[in-house]
Amino acid sequence: MAPAIKYTKLFINNEWVDARSGKTFETCTPHDGTVTARIAEGDKADIDLAVSAAKAAFHRNSEWRLLDASARGRLLNKFADLIQRDTQYLAELESYDNGMLIGFAMRNVAMAENLARYNAGLADKIQGDTIPADGEVFSYTLKQPVGVCGLILPWNVPILMFAAKVTTALAAGCTVVVKPAEQSPLTALALAALLNEAGFPPGVVNVVPGFGPGAGSSLTHHPDVAKISFTGSVEVGKLIQRTAGEVNLKRVSLELGGKNPLVIMNDADLELAVRTAANGVFANQGQICLAASRLYVQSGIYDQFVQKAVDFAKNIKIGNPSDPTSRHGPQIDLEMMTKVLGYIEIGKQEGAKLMTGGDCVGDKGFYIQPAVFINVTDDMTIAKEEIFGPVQCILKFDTLEDVIDRANNTNYGLVAGIFTSNINTALQFSKHVQAGTIWVNNWLVYNVQVPFGGFKDSGLGREKGMDCVNAYLEVKTVTVAQPKKL
Ligand code: NAP
Ligand code: MG
Repeated sequence: MAPAIKYTKLFINNEWVDARSGKTFETCTPHDGTVTARIAEGDKADIDLAVSAAKAAFHRNSEWRLLDASARGRLLNKFADLIQRDTQYLAELESYDNGMLIGFAMRNVAMAENLARYNAGLADKIQGDTIPADGEVFSYTLKQPVGVCGLILPWNVPILMFAAKVTTALAAGCTVVVKPAEQSPLTALALAALLNEAGFPPGVVNVVPGFGPGAGSSLTHHPDVAKISFTGSVEVGKLIQRTAGEVNLKRVSLELGGKNPLVIMNDADLELAVRTAANGVFANQGQICLAASRLYVQSGIYDQFVQKAVDFAKNIKIGNPSDPTSRHGPQIDLEMMTKVLGYIEIGKQEGAKLMTGGDCVGDKGFYIQPAVFINVTDDMTIAKEEIFGPVQCILKFDTLEDVIDRANNTNYGLVAGIFTSNINTALQFSKHVQAGTIWVNNWLVYNVQVPFGGFKDSGLGREKGMDCVNAYLEVKTVTVAQPKKL
């Protein structure tokens, strides 16, 4: 049964309101492409209202700003309790709106709860320094919230991205305006309702669904927004960095895409490597920036590996994401499905060999069979561009030296991994590969306690981990004249 859709309006100043224009847009379920709800479509006028509510909530005498830091932590813990209470519903709604497998959605919700608890703990541990500055002075630093933050979300893991950005900004004491992706707005609205229930004061969190060029760009151009945190494509990320400096100088954090190399050495645990590599690229139908989308296999085990990888992919059970026995669901929409099928065609034309999958499944929804390409070379389009679909690209290599250079020969630098039983190989790889995260003998281990972000075009700044709040803080130096002698 489809989950109830309780919220379809904009959430501004703790109230549910229609868009000023009265406009709405459709959201669909990727399982069969049917329209599930009409959502209020926020635009510049609504962003102006939301920002002004967030600005009022950030005033020095507001209820929010006068709260103790520990009280901010308690509110975040309450939010985490409510996520925990509604785990099943939130996961079902996410799966329905986004097409992600219900099991994957449950893990995402659990991770969102963990993020809220982790950031709740950080709220009253934000502290400055006392500094032995030269002269007859006493100097210290304060770490203060940067102000109103515009948080722009992607469609691929909506609950996770909402929790990562919103709970960090709130721990820091900021106020926020969230723009969810137009393809999957439902869970951001459900989470807004939980923040309201938790007791966050009006204006602290506002959620304005809409489109990138309307609501999104109004946020990035707004003079009262102090910071933008964005997750999405490199193309839009670059645009946001440019526009964020046009009106005022906004602080910018960017989490962008990847073309992530996973290296399998001859001495790897073969069964584990095959399984992990497949899950690494097919998870969420390949729609994760962390996808293991360049799979380098050493020549000594190449043939054996390929056979096992093909067998694995052929046996993945495709089906309705709400069925807990399904192991592979639909792509988000027709546009993404068409884009991925286009890459599969290009792969064939450029001479890679398609060993299995790559076709549409069924006559409704946006399902693609997991595809495995072999004989892929570094110059091919499918080895260079982020596909964001269930396409495993297997490349052969001979030496560690060679594969490190090849792994680095890209503008991306999000994550990388290696399977080996040799500690020196693992350490050399970890030292020399340019990526924000290196996984050794694992992939997709994504804990709240560790920093996450990209080198090069994969991003700017880090989310998660102890330092994540710094992206939402300003450092203020206070110097007080203080004679050394009485
Ligand atoms: P996208 O097109 O870049 O969109 C991301 C968000 O930005 C959406 O909310 C979008 O609104 C909005 N947007 C679009 N144009 C904008 C503009 N001119 N000004 C302000 N906001 C704008 O990416 P996507 O289609 O959601 O996601 C796929 C891509 O994101 C992939 O490349 C993937 O690798 C990357 N990604 C990276 C990470 C990471 O953590 N590094 C995580 C997830 C995804 P609309 O709803 O109108 O599109
Ligand atoms: Mg988009």
